[in-house]
This record gives sequence, C-alpha cells and structure tokens, in this order.
Amino acid sequence: MRFYSTRNKNVCVSGAEAVCRGISEEGGLFVPSAFPQITETQLRALCDEEYESLAAFVIGAFLPELREQLPDYCRKAYAKFESDPPAVAPLVKLDDNLCVLELWHGPTCAFKDVALTLLPYLLDGAKRATGNTRTTLIPVATSGDTGKAALEGFRNVNGAAVAVFYPDGGVSDLQRLQMITTDGDNVFVSAIKGNFDDAQTAVKKAFTDESLKAELLGRGIELSSANSINFGRLAPQIAYYFSAYCDLLSSEQIEYGDKVDFVVPSGNFGDILAGYYARKMGLPVGKLICASNTNNVLCDFIKTGTYDIRREFHKTSSPSMDILISSNLERLLFDVSGENDKSTAQRMAALKSEGVYSLTPREHAEITAIFDAGFATEEEVAETIANYFDEYGYIIDPHTAVAACVAAQVNGGERTRPTVILSTASPHKFAASVLTAIGEKPVRDELKNLQNLEDVTALEAPASLISLPEKEKLFTGSIALTEVNDALRAFAAKIAKTRA
Ligand SMILES: *Cc1c(COP(=O)(O)O)cnc(C)c1O
Repeated sequence: MRFYSTRNKNVCVSGAEAVCRGISEEGGLFVPSAFPQITETQLRALCDEEYESLAAFVIGAFLPELREQLPDYCRKAYAKFESDPPAVAPLVKLDDNLCVLELWHGPTCAFKDVALTLLPYLLDGAKRATGNTRTTLIPVATSGDTGKAALEGFRNVNGAAVAVFYPDGGVSDLQRLQMITTDGDNVFVSAIKGNFDDAQTAVKKAFTDESLKAELLGRGIELSSANSINFGRLAPQIAYYFSAYCDLLSSEQIEYGDKVDFVVPSGNFGDILAGYYARKMGLPVGKLICASNTNNVLCDFIKTGTYDIRREFHKTSSPSMDILISSNLERLLFDVSGENDKSTAQRMAALKSEGVYSLTPREHAEITAIFDAGFATEEEVAETIANYFDEYGYIIDPHTAVAACVAAQVNGGERTRPTVILSTASPHKFAASVLTAIGEKPVRDELKNLQNLEDVTALEAPASLISLPEKEKLFTGSIALTEVNDALRAFAAKIAKTRA
C-alpha cells in the first residue's frame, strides 16, 4: 500500500514512512492510494472478534508492513481502557434506531485515546520497519483533548518526546490540569497566546522550517505529528465505525447491508473522515452527519460548497471543536476532486491567503450525497443535555450534545435509518457545563463539581480526574506564537542531554 501527498502525488511513500513523517514536506497530508475493500464474509467474521482483533484487522489493511505486530499493539494499547466490562467503543441503545457510541473510556476520558494509546506502538513499529533510529519529537497543537491523550500515550516512551501547545484560556480547567500535571522526562507543555487555529498554524510551520529541522537532525531528532494530520491517528478511528456496525448486526438491530447514519461532533474533521474512509472500504454507511458548534464553518461548507473562515471565532462549552481551519478536510477535498493534487494545493493556498475557497458544483453534489450537516447553539447544547437526562436518564458532555442536537435537526427531525451518535468525551470532563445544563450550580472547585455530578447522575467520576487537583502543576508557562520554534529547540536540547 502506497500513500501520496494531497498536494503533490509525486511524493509517494509506504504507510510506515507516512506514519513516521506525519505530514508531507510541502505541507500536504498523506492519503492511501487505494482503499482496501472489506467483503461480507470478512465483516461478518469481524463481528465475532474482540475489539482489539477487529482494530488490528482494519488498521492492518492500510499498514500491511505492521500486520503481524498489530494484534499485540492493539492489546497493549487498549489494556489502558476500562476493562470491567471491556469498553473501547461500547454502543449504548437509547431508543429505537438511536444509539450512542461511547469513545471516552480511555485514560484521558476523550475519544482521542482510541488513536493516541495506539500511535506510540504504530510509530515504533514504523520506525523499525524503515530502519529509523532517530528520536521522534512530536509537537502537538491541541484544542484540549489531543494534548493530554498524546502526553499520556507517549509519556516515558523510548525514542519519542512530546511538546504540547494549548490556547491560553481556550481549554477547560480540567483539560488544562490534565496537561500541566503530566510528569515524565520526555514531555513539555506550554500555553500559547492565541486560539487553536493560531496554535495549529504555528506548529505546522515548524515542519517546514528547514533551519530548525537541520538543527534537530544534528541532535539525532526528527519531527513527526500526533495530530490527526498523521494517518496513524486516523487508521485506529476507522475501526470503531466497523465495531459499531457489528454491534448493531450482532444485536439484530439491523440486517447485513442495512445502512447506518453516523452523527459526528466535528472540529478538525478527523473523526468524521474516518467514517468516510470506512464507507470507502465498503461499510454500509448511510449519511455521515457533521455536527458543529457555533463555530459552524464545516456545516456551512457542507451546505453551500464554500469554505469561508472570514468569521468570528467563538469560545464555546465544547472547546475541542472551537476550530475554524479543519485540517482533515484537505483529505476529503483531494478525494472529491478526483485526487487532483494541483487543485487541492491551490485551494489550500487560497485558504491561507484569502480565507476562502469553493467547490465545483459536481464536487459539492458528491459531498452532499454522503454528508449532511447542522450546528447547535450554546442554548441548544444545554437544552439537549437536559433533555437526554430527562428522557433517557443518560448524561452526555457538551461535545456529544452538539451531535445529539444535530441528530434531531437533520431530515426534518425524522429518523429514517438506525442512527449512531459518536460520544467523544466523558461528561465528567466538562462537569461545570453539564451541571449548569441540568439546573445545578457549578462552583470554582472542579473536584466539587465532579463529586456533585456524580451525586446527581449516579455516574461514577473517573479516578484519573478525581486525583487531578492534588497533583503538582509542572508547566505554568505561556509563550507567544512566534516562540514555538525556540521552545522546540530548547526542549530538543534537553532531550538530547537526557539521552546522552
Ligand atoms: C477532538 C474532539 C472533537 C472533534 O474531533 P475532530 O476529529 O477534530 O473533528 C470532538 N469532541 C471531542 C471531545 C474532542 O476531543
């Protein structure tokens, strides 16, 4: 299986190489040159497997060079999820034709764990497969959840180091505490003065800074990415679409071949793109419904065919979706343009210089045949949390609530097909917002909020969150956007010293 860059198809590498590099040199993203097809027999067989084996099969279809090790990698990675009952991606039935796929039972209580517990193993395997002995330095821009999941995944992993940059004032208190209390000699965390888009742009710049890269190479260090621009992040996410379908099949809620709609709370477009890739592999997916918060640039794009970031940026109760520049959309653009690297590169350049680009009518029609979209206001998010608690006795976080709200909007509110809402964070991770939504009064002390939410909902708060307020705050700095590369230089020097 070969992978090429969305901005230059002549850049063509193996899957292992794509995982090591994270992003292509000219700024393009690596995409598979073909999509492996899953037959009915294979899909039915997957339904009898445990999640770990199912994931190994799906990921191995894209990364055959790691196929042998993948079952072991998946077992080790997913051992970090709640195990009683086993819960990487449990499907919870709420109503006829309505299910929730809970993706937040991992170590940091958000769906990013599904990919980021596995990525260190994928990276290690990919480096072995390509004979790469350098240390991998991973700069991460985070809107809140990727940062902690990457820190947790790579903490104390040999041959790798992580530097996380989060928007100052742009993440929840718990998200911030999770990140700045991480220990380990290969981790660095800093706030950055700007929003997530600024942080992501600043971090992406490091990848094209030749002098920085040369200096790092002199120390035996190379850069890679753990953001969802890395195909190694996407591949594990494709697996849970298959697992959800299998669960519906096994519980006889559908018959083989029935189409299922998925509603995905979207920010950087990685999660929903994984669903698109699952569909391309032959999974019977009906509509992929893209749910936005008030930063509704993706929703507008799907409805109109024009991507326009010339708008106000809102801070919302679903901070992990407070994004205007959705990196992974580039992969969809490339696909619907007939894999046209020139037009993809041009559109990305237009986005950078003018803040806007448009699809052709043919491309837009192709997208609306598969995708639908909607957005939820802050009031609607709170209402949805309250309604789900009333109606189903089921408590959801604000990100999941965005999707739940949009699920009720599309199709004139009528559910024609079995619908799966992707639940991306534990409600406890956003305890203050959830408490407000259900009519309780949150306080400043997050620990109290966690306990209060536990009392009101009878849903146990994750131990990893309860212990946070007592932990030592190890990283309290905040830097300017222009200081990212210097911070990386200083961190690289420290890593080189500890390694020596
Ligand atoms: C990252 C994140 C999202 C958005 O996922 P994308 O892949 O960036 O679209 C939604 N919800 C939560 C809780 C997240 O952490």
